[in-house]
Amino acid sequence: MTAEPGETDAGLERALEEAFARAQASLGEGRLATYIPELGRADPSKLAVSLHTVDGRESGAGDVDEPFTLQSISKVFTLAYALRSVGNGFLSRMSMEPSGDAFHSIIRLEQEQGRPRNPYINTGAILVSEQLPGRSPQEKIDGVLGFLRELARSDRIDVDNNAYRSEAETGNRNRALAHFMKHHGTVENSAVAVDTYFRQCAIRATARLLGRMSLFLANKGVDPVTGRRVLDEESNRLIVALMATCGLYDEIGRFAVGVGLPGKSGVSGGIMAVAPRRMTIAVYSPELDPNGNSVAGLAALTALSEKLRLSLFE
Ligand code: GLN
Repeated sequence: MTAEPGETDAGLERALEEAFARAQASLGEGRLATYIPELGRADPSKLAVSLHTVDGRESGAGDVDEPFTLQSISKVFTLAYALRSVGNGFLSRMSMEPSGDAFHSIIRLEQEQGRPRNPYINTGAILVSEQLPGRSPQEKIDGVLGFLRELARSDRIDVDNNAYRSEAETGNRNRALAHFMKHHGTVENSAVAVDTYFRQCAIRATARLLGRMSLFLANKGVDPVTGRRVLDEESNRLIVALMATCGLYDEIGRFAVGVGLPGKSGVSGGIMAVAPRRMTIAVYSPELDPNGNSVAGLAALTALSEKLRLSLFE
């Protein structure tokens, strides 16, 4: 890896400290997600920033071992696992364009005859969930968990059953999206698709584990720690490119300007960002802005991007 300004161990630590302080100063500015009741019970004072370089360094600040549910961040990993295990045929049933709408919007689905705009909004992710190998939602998610545990080199990744039940009890909007796609033939079994989706959103990890399991995305599909290929280069590029254009819903433009990296957020307050060939960064803080993205997480990523000159658009 070529040396980059600030990427000595001391430079990384300094950038991390400053980013953490900046994120801390923004605590209290956002709101917890409450439409999934279980998410409303999160501790708003939690804050984690975890940084992982492709040359094997790991550095963290704050609550990097605090578990949280991945929510929409899981969409990146189910897409990776589906591409790896069943191939890319299902991609022909969706577009690859930003939606410009909220993550659970139904408007374009109606306008575009049940065709999801991209795999990172709920409709696209529900379609991908159905493609996962296995018959039942449980079997499908067991496969994903095995994949993630191997990537993170940890068994401490599981499904948070309270979060799963909480979303399953209240997720009628997602059910509506699945039924609508069933009407158009985009999904076959909407009940399996949406139940798998609820389970994947409830997959629980920590910022440290999330940063680790994302590293292959920054390294052309190869896990830099084990040297094992996780995904072919073309699929890896697709996943990362779509993060850059669709990873933060209708806030992706501002994220491109302020952070300048492919990223994926979730309503539990996690954000994962990829600096190709350099590092991954996982942040967690549960208070959200109106678009459903972590306020302190965005502050930390913006500061890190400035300090370490991470933006791809420099
Ligand atoms: N489980 C959440 C939902 O479907 C995930 C959304 C998100 O993280 N943006 O509403």
